[in-house]
Amino acid sequence: MIPERKLRDEIIRFSHLCYERHMLVAMDGNLSVKLSETEILCTKAGCHKGFLVDEDLVVIDRKGKKLRGAGSPTSEMAMHLACYDERPDISAVIHTHPPISVAFTIAGVSMARCVLPEVVLTLGTVPTVEYATTGTLTLADKIRPYVRDHDAILMDRHGAVCLGKSLLLAWCNLETMEHTALITKTARDLGHVRELPADEAGKLRSMGLKRYGGPPSAVARADNPGADLPHACTGCSGCAHPSPSGIAPKSEMKMARVTQAGLGATMSSREAGRLEDALVSEVLRALVK
Ligand SMILES: [Zn+2]
Repeated sequence: MIPERKLRDEIIRFSHLCYERHMLVAMDGNLSVKLSETEILCTKAGCHKGFLVDEDLVVIDRKGKKLRGAGSPTSEMAMHLACYDERPDISAVIHTHPPISVAFTIAGVSMARCVLPEVVLTLGTVPTVEYATTGTLTLADKIRPYVRDHDAILMDRHGAVCLGKSLLLAWCNLETMEHTALITKTARDLGHVRELPADEAGKLRSMGLKRYGGPPSAVARADNPGADLPHACTGCSGCAHPSPSGIAPKSEMKMARVTQAGLGATMSSREAGRLEDALVSEVLRALVK
């Protein structure tokens, strides 16, 4: 078992890192780590993670009751406890509000797609849990089926929950998720997102689960075609055909250019009529292309 002093220092270090790397602001977010099978060390309610000190940590039991420390555990601990219940294999949970990943949920753009080979290999896809009020048992219950199968999830309009066998591994999942969101957003800004072909995504995921592990339920599916990838990925036709509902919805915008309308600087009603005709014919031509 890792000494409590070491875990207290770690949770302080990763809290500071969450703030320094813009994963949260002000009093947002919370981190926790298992001290034993019955005790969980966590950040207390209403503390700034960028300035977190030892006195901001509390120890709770597996039902959320405070055992030691000043201050109260946050209502969002229900979410952490649901993760520990569903995933006996993990020891740390980091909940933050990473801005680009959360923006994906607000825009309704899925991050459960296969775009970067390294991410498919190590993390798989990131699902989004439907909206529920923060800090409620309803939200904690909604995330249960997702954390059973994933090490990183997004909650609609809210934030991320990342799990790991240690705080470092939970942090890596969070960092990978937000970095993927930044790369994907930049690609969208530049034009379009070319997803990995389904067979390559399936092969990579299967290889990654065997090499690096993952949620036990996902590792058990490593040999299945497509491994644990969602249908949206295995049904994706890859690079040349971005999915209409996925990361790179096909633009419906069409361009039309009107030339040689032969119009004067001051338009007569006859010229205005000719402009209208030219516009209509160009728009129709662009639409049927
Ligand atoms: Zn939150």
